[in-house]
Amino acid sequence: MKTIGLLGGMSWESTSLYYQQMNQLVQRRLGGLHSAQIVMVSVDFAQISQWQQQGDWQQAGQYLAEQAQYLQRAGADCIILCTNTMHKVADEIVAAIDIPFIHIADATAQVIHKQEISKVGLLGTAFTMQQDFYTGRLKQQGIEVMVPDLAAQEIVHQVIFNELCKGQIRAESKQQYIEIVESLIRDGAQGIIFGCTEICMLIGDVQFSVPIFDTTTTHAQAAVEFALA
Ligand code: GLU
Repeated sequence: MKTIGLLGGMSWESTSLYYQQMNQLVQRRLGGLHSAQIVMVSVDFAQISQWQQQGDWQQAGQYLAEQAQYLQRAGADCIILCTNTMHKVADEIVAAIDIPFIHIADATAQVIHKQEISKVGLLGTAFTMQQDFYTGRLKQQGIEVMVPDLAAQEIVHQVIFNELCKGQIRAESKQQYIEIVESLIRDGAQGIIFGCTEICMLIGDVQFSVPIFDTTTTHAQAAVEFALA
C-alpha cells in the first residue's frame, strides 16, 4: 500500500472526515485490521483564511508548497490537498514536489462523467464559485457549471466560514442550502457538486432528485484508489 500525504486543516472539521473515510475505505477493501497509511500536515486555518481575504495567494501558495514538501520528505507517495478553495494554488504545489498531486476537481469530473451528465450546479466558497481555477478546470473536461445567484452565493460562503469551519450545524442554514440546491435543480442542474469539503456536514443527509457529488468523499476515494493500485 502506498502512503497518502494529507495536506489538511482547511478546515480541520473536514480533514477529520477525510481521515475517517480513507481508513474506512481501506478497511472495507482489505478487511482484517487494515487501515490507511497516511502522513498528515494540518495547518492553522486562521492564517490561510487571512491570506484568502487579503488576496495574498502568492504567500498561501508558497506556504502550502513548503508543507507539501514536508509531506514528501515524510514518505508521502501522493498529495491530497483537503480543500477545494486552496486548489487555487495547486500549480505552485505541483511545481514544488516530485510525487503525484491528486486534484480534487479532476477526481470530481471523473465521477460526474460516470453518471453521463454534463451540466452541474456548484456550491462552494465565493472563491471557488466565482474564480476560474475550479470551474475552468471542470469546463476543460466538458462539464458545464452553474452557480447560485450572487445573494445565494453570499449565504453559502458565509455559512462555510462562520459556521461549518467552526463545526456549527444550524437548522436555518440547512434549510437555506436546501432551497439553493433545489433552485439550481429547477434551473436545469443535472447534478450538484458539494464543492467545499464541509458542505456534506450540513446537507450530506438530504435526499435530492439529482446525483450529488461530494468532493470530500470523492477525493478520499481517489486517494485510496491510488494507494491500493
Ligand atoms: N474546505 C473548504 C473548501 O473545500 C473551505 C475552506 C477553505 O477556504 O479552504 O473549499
